[in-house]
Amino acid sequence: MSEGTSQSQKLRYTGSLDPDDSGILNERILLLVFKSLKWDIHALCQTASVNHKLRALARRVLWRELCVYRAPRMMSTLTEGGASNARISGGWQVLAKLLFFCGGCDSTRNFKLSQPSPGHFVKSTRFSKTSGRSFLTKKCRGDVLFVTDPCEHPTGEKQDDVGIYRGVFRGFMKSRTRDCLIRRQVEFEADARCPYCGSRVWSMTSARLIPRRTAARRLGSSDDALEYFVCLNGHLHGMCWLVPLSSNEEEADDEDEDKDGGGSSDDDDDDNGGPSNYHNNEFDNGDFILFSKHILN
Ligand SMILES: [Zn+2]
Ligand SMILES: [Zn+2]
Repeated sequence: MSEGTSQSQKLRYTGSLDPDDSGILNERILLLVFKSLKWDIHALCQTASVNHKLRALARRVLWRELCVYRAPRMMSTLTEGGASNARISGGWQVLAKLLFFCGGCDSTRNFKLSQPSPGHFVKSTRFSKTSGRSFLTKKCRGDVLFVTDPCEHPTGEKQDDVGIYRGVFRGFMKSRTRDCLIRRQVEFEADARCPYCGSRVWSMTSARLIPRRTAARRLGSSDDALEYFVCLNGHLHGMCWLVPLSSNEEEADDEDEDKDGGGSSDDDDDDNGGPSNYHNNEFDNGDFILFSKHILN
C-alpha cells in the first residue's frame, strides 16, 4: 500500500471509496474506532449496512479484524501464521458468521427431526482443535479442524435435546479429508447447503468418514445418533442427540482423549470471548437481519 506523504494526506479511499458519501476520513481511524469498541459486532453490522462501499470495506478489512480480535490463536492457525493479507476459504465474513452463529438444524437424510430447530446468535463459543481431532478418522487425523462444543437445543418432545455444533478446517483444499471425499466419489447432498457460505456439502455419514465412537464421546451422544456435513470451503456443521453425561462417562472421555490426542496441546484453541453460553443471545432481531443481509449476501 502506498505510504507517500502527499498520498497519506489524501483520503486512503481515493479511487475506491468516494469521500463525499463514505463519511470516513481514513481507514485507520475506523480501525481505531472499532478497536476502542472492542470490535463490537453490533456496530460492525450497522457500519456494513450503511452503503455498499462500507460493506466492501468490511469485507476487505473489518470482518478479518473482528475474527482476529475474538479468536487470535485460532485465526493464526487457520492462516498458518496470521499474515495480515491471508485469505480464508469462503471469506472472512463467513468465518465471522461461523464464530457467532449457531446454524440450527433441520431433518436430513441421515438425521430425522420432527421439526426444525432455528439458528441463533451466540455471545461466545469455544472452538477446539483437540475436539476437532475427535471428528476425523485415523487416516485424516493429520488435518487441522476446529470444532465447538454442542449447543443444546430442546426439542420440546420426550426425546433428548439436539446438540448442534460447527467447525472449520485449516486449508481444506489440501486436506486429507477432502482427498478422501474426492477419491471415494462421494456425492453432494441434494437438499443441504452450508449454513455459513451456502455452498454444497458432503454428508460425512454417507462418506463413512465419521469416527463414531470418538465423535459421540466428545459430543455426549451415542454412536449412531450424530451426523455432520462438510462444505466445499471446509466449514463443518452437525447435529446429534445429546444424552446426559454421568461422571463415569466424563472420566472415560478423558482417558480416551489421552489415547487419541497424541499428546498435543490445546495451545491454539480459542474461546471467542468469555465463558461458553448457550442460547445467550446478545442480538435482537434487528441485528439478525443486519447480519444476515451483510454477511450472507
Ligand atoms: Zn444453538
Ligand atoms: Zn461453507
